[in-house]
Amino acid sequence: MLILARCPNCGAGLPFDATEMPAAIACGGCRRAIALAITEGVAGDRAVDACPVCRGANFYVRKDFNPQLGLAVVVVGALVSAAFYWFNRDLAAYAVLAGAALLDLIVYGRLGEVTVCYRCHTEFRGGYPRTAAAFDLHTADLLELEYERAIGRR
Ligand SMILES: [Zn+2]
Ligand SMILES: [Zn+2]
Repeated sequence: MLILARCPNCGAGLPFDATEMPAAIACGGCRRAIALAITEGVAGDRAVDACPVCRGANFYVRKDFNPQLGLAVVVVGALVSAAFYWFNRDLAAYAVLAGAALLDLIVYGRLGEVTVCYRCHTEFRGGYPRTAAAFDLHTADLLELEYERAIGRR
Protein backbone atom coordinates (compact mmCIF):
# COMPACT_ATOMS: atom_id res chain seq x y z
CA MET A 1 0.00 0.00 0.00
CA LEU A 2 1.28 3.45 -0.90
CA ILE A 3 0.66 6.12 1.69
CA LEU A 4 0.77 9.88 1.32
CA ALA A 5 1.11 11.43 4.77
CA ARG A 6 0.71 15.12 5.53
CA CYS A 7 3.30 16.77 7.74
CA PRO A 8 1.41 18.14 10.80
CA ASN A 9 3.95 20.94 10.99
CA CYS A 10 4.20 22.35 7.45
CA GLY A 11 1.57 20.39 5.48
CA ALA A 12 4.02 18.88 2.97
CA GLY A 13 2.97 15.63 1.26
CA LEU A 14 5.19 12.72 2.31
CA PRO A 15 4.82 9.53 0.26
CA PHE A 16 6.09 6.21 1.60
CA ASP A 17 5.57 2.48 1.07
CA ALA A 18 3.76 0.76 3.96
CA THR A 19 5.15 -2.65 2.96
CA GLU A 20 8.51 -1.63 4.37
CA MET A 21 6.84 -0.70 7.68
CA PRO A 22 9.04 2.30 8.52
CA ALA A 23 8.83 3.29 12.21
CA ALA A 24 9.16 6.97 11.35
CA ILE A 25 9.62 9.32 8.41
CA ALA A 26 11.33 12.69 8.27
CA CYS A 27 9.57 15.61 6.60
CA GLY A 28 11.50 16.83 3.56
CA GLY A 29 10.13 20.34 4.06
CA CYS A 30 10.73 21.11 7.73
CA ARG A 31 12.84 18.12 8.87
CA ARG A 32 10.30 17.17 11.50
CA ALA A 33 10.30 13.45 12.38
CA ILE A 34 6.86 11.80 12.22
CA ALA A 35 6.41 8.56 14.16
CA LEU A 36 4.38 5.90 12.35
CA ALA A 37 2.29 3.05 13.70
CA ILE A 38 1.61 0.85 10.67
CA THR A 39 -0.88 -1.97 11.26
CA GLU A 40 -0.61 -5.46 9.72
CA GLY A 41 -3.63 -4.71 7.56
CA VAL A 42 -2.08 -1.56 6.11
CA ALA A 43 1.37 -3.14 5.61
CA GLY A 44 -0.18 -6.19 3.88
CA ASP A 45 -2.47 -4.03 1.68
CA ARG A 46 -5.53 -5.82 3.13
CA ALA A 47 -7.39 -3.02 4.92
CA VAL A 48 -7.07 0.56 6.08
CA ASP A 49 -7.96 -0.09 9.73
CA ALA A 50 -5.94 2.56 11.54
CA CYS A 51 -4.07 5.65 10.36
CA PRO A 52 -0.29 5.24 10.86
CA VAL A 53 0.14 8.98 11.39
CA CYS A 54 -2.63 9.99 13.84
CA ARG A 55 -3.84 6.50 14.96
CA GLY A 56 -7.37 7.51 13.95
CA ALA A 57 -9.85 4.98 12.57
CA ASN A 58 -12.22 7.28 10.64
CA PHE A 59 -11.81 7.35 6.89
CA TYR A 60 -13.67 8.35 3.76
CA VAL A 61 -13.33 7.26 0.16
CA ARG A 62 -13.08 9.66 -2.75
CA LYS A 63 -12.36 9.39 -6.49
CA ASP A 64 -8.65 9.44 -7.10
CA PHE A 65 -8.04 11.51 -10.21
CA ASN A 66 -5.28 13.61 -11.60
CA PRO A 67 -6.94 16.56 -13.40
CA GLN A 68 -3.67 17.60 -15.08
CA LEU A 69 -3.10 14.15 -16.56
CA GLY A 70 -6.71 13.97 -17.80
CA LEU A 71 -6.44 17.39 -19.41
CA ALA A 72 -3.08 16.56 -21.06
CA VAL A 73 -4.61 13.47 -22.72
CA VAL A 74 -7.51 15.50 -24.12
CA VAL A 75 -5.28 18.37 -25.33
CA VAL A 76 -2.81 16.05 -27.09
CA GLY A 77 -5.71 14.13 -28.61
CA ALA A 78 -7.27 17.36 -29.93
CA LEU A 79 -3.96 18.52 -31.45
CA VAL A 80 -3.30 15.23 -33.24
CA SER A 81 -6.92 15.18 -34.39
CA ALA A 82 -6.62 18.73 -35.77
CA ALA A 83 -3.50 17.71 -37.72
CA PHE A 84 -5.36 14.81 -39.37
CA TYR A 85 -8.31 17.10 -40.11
CA TRP A 86 -5.97 19.61 -41.80
CA PHE A 87 -4.84 16.90 -44.21
CA ASN A 88 -8.46 15.93 -44.96
CA ARG A 89 -8.28 12.68 -43.04
CA ASP A 90 -11.62 13.23 -41.33
CA LEU A 91 -12.11 9.64 -40.30
CA ALA A 92 -8.65 9.45 -38.71
CA ALA A 93 -9.33 12.76 -36.94
CA TYR A 94 -12.50 11.43 -35.38
CA ALA A 95 -10.79 8.17 -34.48
CA VAL A 96 -8.03 10.03 -32.62
CA LEU A 97 -10.57 12.15 -30.75
CA ALA A 98 -12.53 9.08 -29.75
CA GLY A 99 -9.30 7.35 -28.76
CA ALA A 100 -8.30 10.26 -26.53
CA ALA A 101 -11.69 10.25 -24.83
CA LEU A 102 -11.43 6.50 -24.31
CA LEU A 103 -7.89 6.78 -22.94
CA ASP A 104 -9.14 9.48 -20.58
CA LEU A 105 -11.82 7.09 -19.30
CA ILE A 106 -9.28 4.31 -18.81
CA VAL A 107 -6.89 6.61 -16.95
CA TYR A 108 -9.67 7.80 -14.65
CA GLY A 109 -11.11 4.31 -14.27
CA ARG A 110 -7.82 2.69 -13.37
CA LEU A 111 -6.97 5.28 -10.75
CA GLY A 112 -10.13 4.25 -8.93
CA GLU A 113 -10.67 5.36 -5.39
CA VAL A 114 -8.43 6.52 -2.58
CA THR A 115 -9.08 6.23 1.16
CA VAL A 116 -8.41 9.40 3.16
CA CYS A 117 -7.99 9.91 6.91
CA TYR A 118 -10.52 12.41 8.25
CA ARG A 119 -8.15 13.76 10.89
CA CYS A 120 -4.74 14.22 9.25
CA HIS A 121 -5.65 13.81 5.55
CA THR A 122 -3.26 10.93 4.98
CA GLU A 123 -4.11 9.13 1.71
CA PHE A 124 -3.99 5.34 1.16
CA ARG A 125 -3.56 3.79 -2.30
CA GLY A 126 -3.44 0.08 -3.04
CA GLY A 127 -5.42 -3.00 -3.97
CA TYR A 128 -7.18 -3.35 -0.59
CA PRO A 129 -11.03 -3.39 -0.54
CA ARG A 130 -12.59 0.06 -0.05
CA THR A 131 -14.82 -0.14 3.02
CA ALA A 132 -15.02 3.50 4.11
CA ALA A 133 -18.09 5.63 3.32
CA ALA A 134 -18.15 8.78 1.20
CA PHE A 135 -17.02 12.13 2.59
CA ASP A 136 -19.20 13.62 5.33
CA LEU A 137 -18.69 17.30 6.12
CA HIS A 138 -20.02 17.09 9.67
CA THR A 139 -17.66 14.23 10.58
CA ALA A 140 -14.77 16.08 8.92
CA ASP A 141 -15.44 19.25 10.95
CA LEU A 142 -15.46 17.34 14.24
CA LEU A 143 -12.44 15.15 13.59
CA GLU A 144 -10.24 17.83 12.01
CA LEU A 145 -10.82 20.05 15.03
CA GLU A 146 -10.00 17.18 17.37
CA TYR A 147 -6.78 16.45 15.47
CA GLU A 148 -5.66 20.07 15.30
CA ARG A 149 -6.17 20.39 19.05
CA ALA A 150 -4.19 17.18 19.57
CA ILE A 151 -1.21 18.47 17.60
CA GLY A 152 -1.52 21.92 19.17
CA ARG A 153 -2.50 23.89 16.10
CA ARG A 154 -5.65 25.33 17.75
ZN1 LIG B 1 7.06 19.39 7.50
ZN1 LIG C 1 -4.65 10.18 10.20
